[in-house]
Amino acid sequence: MSETLKGACLCGKVEYEVKDPEGLGYCHCSRCQRWTGSSLAGVVVAKENFHFTQGEDLVTCYESEFAPRNFCSNCGSSIYDDLGEKYFVAAGLMRELDMEPSFHLQVAYKAGWMEIPGNAPQYAEGM
Ligand SMILES: [Zn+2]
Ligand SMILES: [Zn+2]
Repeated sequence: MSETLKGACLCGKVEYEVKDPEGLGYCHCSRCQRWTGSSLAGVVVAKENFHFTQGEDLVTCYESEFAPRNFCSNCGSSIYDDLGEKYFVAAGLMRELDMEPSFHLQVAYKAGWMEIPGNAPQYAEGM
C-alpha cells in the first residue's frame, strides 16, 4: 500500500502527513483510555514516514511510561503515541483515512462499557 494521508488537530494549527500506513487498529489499555477518553483508534506507521507540515512547535510530549504521548498544546488533540520504530497515530485526525480496523490490543484492560465493533482479531495484551 502506498498512500499519503493528511491529519490535522482540532484547532487546525498542527498538520501532518503519514506515508504508507501499515494498519489501523485499536488500543484499549488504561493509558490510552485516559489519554483519549476512550480506546485509541490509531494507524501504525514507520516513524520516518510521519512528518509535521505545520505547527510542530505546538506539539508537546507527555513522557508516559512505555509510549510518550504527543499532543497539540493549543487544543489538546492526541496526535501520536511513540512506540520507538513505529508511531501509533490517532486515526480520527486523518479525515481521508479509509482502512478497515485489523486489530484490537490490550482488550483485557478495556472499559466495561466499551463494546468492540467488527470482527478484527482481539488480543488480551499485545500482538
Ligand atoms: Zn490543535
Ligand atoms: Zn494503549
